[in-house]
Amino acid sequence: MNKPLILVVEDDTSVRNLISTTLRAHDYRYLTAQNGDSAIMEASSHNPEIILLDLGLPDMDGVEVIKKIRTWSNVPIIVISARSEDTDKIDALDAGADDYLTKPFSVEELLARLRVTQRRLAIMQNESPVETSLFTNGQLRVDYAAGCAYLGEEELHLTPIEYKLLCLLSRNVGKVLTHTFITQSIWGSSWDNDIASLRVFMATLRKKIESQPESPQYIQTHIGVGYRMMKVE
Ligand code: CA
Repeated sequence: MNKPLILVVEDDTSVRNLISTTLRAHDYRYLTAQNGDSAIMEASSHNPEIILLDLGLPDMDGVEVIKKIRTWSNVPIIVISARSEDTDKIDALDAGADDYLTKPFSVEELLARLRVTQRRLAIMQNESPVETSLFTNGQLRVDYAAGCAYLGEEELHLTPIEYKLLCLLSRNVGKVLTHTFITQSIWGSSWDNDIASLRVFMATLRKKIESQPESPQYIQTHIGVGYRMMKVE
């Protein structure tokens, strides 16, 4: 994989230095910004391929930065938040962030998130402007045009909700989807009941697609946040 250009937005010098040092040691190219205004400026003038964005910035809320950038760019955004900012993290994902890191994080975690994002980036770049009608991920295949899904050679017998859920996750492979986003997309609402139903449908979907539903390969759970389909090699 080619190393993408990364924009690091972080006002805390020690965290920024940790990230920069890690990126440099792994041959990533990067730019840095220390506040929201310069983040937006750097993003528009240098077209980074990934943005690492701290949510607590001195001049504006990181969520505002995401909303501004999303008006012109689909660049993958990984938000960095403190553990006390859980709601901010969910707001950030709903505003269009792709993934998150919670402070304090290790160098290994940072590199792992970057690898996941690079895979997502590769998929985004290979997508033709006309949406492809076939999705393949490991043994899993979704034929959007025909409305069916397969695991290996076997056609999956999914309920309409399970199928919708699978399509939503596969169309956003690599991206963390919040409970609210998923329930809004599927039921048009996001009451506590819908989130409880989502859990039930997710469990039945996993039984059908995962060889070990207790340690899922395709769909990750993000406790208190949502779910993500992982790209399987
Ligand atoms: Ca900060």
